[in-house]
Amino acid sequence: MATMGDESTPAAIQEQGRHFSGEQRAAVRDVVDYELLFDCIHCGLCLESCPTYVLTRAEMDSPRGRIYLMKGLAEGRLDLDRDAVRHLDLCLQCRGCETACPSGVRYGRLIEHARGYVEHNWRRGLIERVRNRLISAIFPYPARLRIALAPLRFVEQLGKRGLLRAIVPPFARDWLDLLPALNEPMRLFPEDPEPGARLLGRQTCDPEIAGASRVVVHHGCVAQVLTPSANLNSERLVAAAGYQVVKLARTVCCGALDIHHGNVERAREFARVNVTELAASSADSIISAASGCSAVIAQYGELLKDDSKFAAMAAQVSARVTDLSSLLLDRIRRLATYSLGGEFRATITYHDSCHLAHGLGIREEPRELLRSLPGVHLVELTESDLCCGSAGSYNLTERAMARELARRKVDNIIATEAQYVVLSNPGCEFQIAAELKRRRSPVQVVHLADFLAMAIAGPGRLAPSS
Ligand code: SF4
Ligand code: SF4
Repeated sequence: MATMGDESTPAAIQEQGRHFSGEQRAAVRDVVDYELLFDCIHCGLCLESCPTYVLTRAEMDSPRGRIYLMKGLAEGRLDLDRDAVRHLDLCLQCRGCETACPSGVRYGRLIEHARGYVEHNWRRGLIERVRNRLISAIFPYPARLRIALAPLRFVEQLGKRGLLRAIVPPFARDWLDLLPALNEPMRLFPEDPEPGARLLGRQTCDPEIAGASRVVVHHGCVAQVLTPSANLNSERLVAAAGYQVVKLARTVCCGALDIHHGNVERAREFARVNVTELAASSADSIISAASGCSAVIAQYGELLKDDSKFAAMAAQVSARVTDLSSLLLDRIRRLATYSLGGEFRATITYHDSCHLAHGLGIREEPRELLRSLPGVHLVELTESDLCCGSAGSYNLTERAMARELARRKVDNIIATEAQYVVLSNPGCEFQIAAELKRRRSPVQVVHLADFLAMAIAGPGRLAPSS
């Protein structure tokens, strides 16, 4: 344990990790990758980037506090009890602390490992166990999710969703609020026989640009059921920009939900299927409408590094992950002239989805793209990269903290006076839309792909599709 004096200087803390003997290493519990803990020099610069610390002001709900906790558990100085589990459960795994950390602490990897330790060593209460099993058994499987949602779809067709909301218990009301309308037709960017003709101008038909690069959109699990337009519009937009869109023969969940729940073994099973399919697609670039999925696919190299059959292939797949805005901007930057459609007059703001900003480091590209749309005025959002509380299934399992974060996010959104809030992750879309609806706010939440489709084609030119 670090003590005051020379041993607590940043260099001394990191030295402790480097000089840990094999015998000492063998004595620690398998809570985390132990040496990674010593990258933390306890400076506290991450604290104000941590949503749970910002709300609670409790050290143990900060990244630094959780790192102390993990170290104490690993060294056997602390036992896994209800309090310890609580502080680890409350972490959103948003990785805001990684962006803020000057010492390169790989907090995401630490908490993923620690979550696995909790799941293997802590017996949760019956309600939590049943809830977590249901989430784990339904959400990663699109067919099961469609069946589970069928009764609600029917209730909605009868126009009774509001009535249902009024009579269900509060926890179910919160869950119901998160679900978008299930029977609305999608609004899709028109398919264009001439790649690039509408989006970027005739120059994209230059063979050096058009068709030069293959792109695959990973459709995910929940996203393909609840926001299919975001995936389909992503495909149509990159096709319109001259990329060759390739489809996967089979798509399974990226594994994010399992990683959040400490079930890394099943995440690896999903990863092996996706790696096989993504490698077989020979895509040069991999994107997803769910930035949470993109960030996990970008981690496959790490996740499967000890799997002799998949390690190399997984690393190659991970290296190809990018996002829609980066691909479109790449085309724009190569062209002297391009067209992003007619004028679409709107004031918008942009919310940074955690895994796009903190996981993939993509912040400027969506903003630059949005600013380049004729008529669009982008207003910066205060705390744009502070988690909205969605965080995988966090808004289902940690409802109170998730609601507080949604309120804070929506306060900031309303203060921009924007008509639209644009973002790159369906989970954030549902979370923010639910809070806006509760406030009866007219602000519309739109996925980046859907917004680009609407702004570039013009709302009247989107093709309705069931
Ligand atoms: S991942 Fe997010 S919630 Fe967890 S400690 Fe880091 S900043 Fe805080
Ligand atoms: S995680 Fe990074 S920023 Fe936070 S206390 Fe440790 S070294 Fe400092």
